[in-house]
Amino acid sequence: MAEGAFPATWRKIDFKKTFKVLVGREKHREPYILYDDEIIHRSSFFKSARSAEWSSGTKPVDLPNVKPEIFEAYLHCVRYGEIDVPNNNNGTLDYLMFSKVYVLADMLGDLQAVNIVVDRLFGRRRDATGKGLPNTLELKFAYRKTVASSPLRMLIRDGHVHEGSGNIGNVEADEGDHPAAMLYDIVMEYNRLKCANRDKKIKEILSQKAELRPKCHYHQHNDSHPPCPGATVIDI
Ligand SMILES: [Zn+2]
Repeated sequence: MAEGAFPATWRKIDFKKTFKVLVGREKHREPYILYDDEIIHRSSFFKSARSAEWSSGTKPVDLPNVKPEIFEAYLHCVRYGEIDVPNNNNGTLDYLMFSKVYVLADMLGDLQAVNIVVDRLFGRRRDATGKGLPNTLELKFAYRKTVASSPLRMLIRDGHVHEGSGNIGNVEADEGDHPAAMLYDIVMEYNRLKCANRDKKIKEILSQKAELRPKCHYHQHNDSHPPCPGATVIDI
C-alpha cells in the first residue's frame, strides 16, 4: 500500500493557527497559546471567542476567574482525553479539584471534557482506596457552581441514595452542613424511586449500583457532542 494511504488517527492540526488565552489575575496571571484546531471544535466558548465578531485583531481571550492549575488540568484533558488529578496526601480522592475542572469544562461548553471528568469520578469512586463520598466542603462547591439536574449533582445524589449508609434519614441528621439543594435532591430521588417501584422492596431498589445504569446516564450530549456509541436509555 502506498505511503499515506492510511487515514490519520488524530484530527489534523494547522500548527500556524493559534490564539492566546490569559488565565488568572494579577501576579497569578498566565499566558497560554492554544491551537485553534485542537480546541475550537469542542468548546462553544472558544468557538465564540474566535468568531469574527470577537477576534477582530489579536486580542487575547481573557479568563480572569480561572486558576492556571485548573486550566492546565483542563488542557491535559483536551490533549490526552484523561483527567490528571492526583489523590490528596492521605490517599483520598480530590473531589474539589475534579469539581473545579468539571465546572471549567462546563463553562467552556466542552461536553467531551465534562463527560470525561464524570467518567473518571465514576470510576474512581469504586476504588477501594478512595473515600466513598465527597466531604461537606467539596459538596458545597459542587452545588454552588452547578445548575439543578447537572450530571455532577446526579452523581452525588445517587452516591448518597444508592451507596451511602442505606438510611436516608441519617444524611440529614448527621450532616447538617450539607447543601440544602443536595438534601432536597436526595429526598426527592428517594421518593421517586419508592413511588416508581411500589411492588419492590425499597432496600432492593436502593442497593442498585450505578454500574447498572446505561453508558450515557451521567453524560451531556448535543449536536456537537453526539451520544457515545452503543448508548441506550433505561429508566430505573
Ligand atoms: Zn455518552
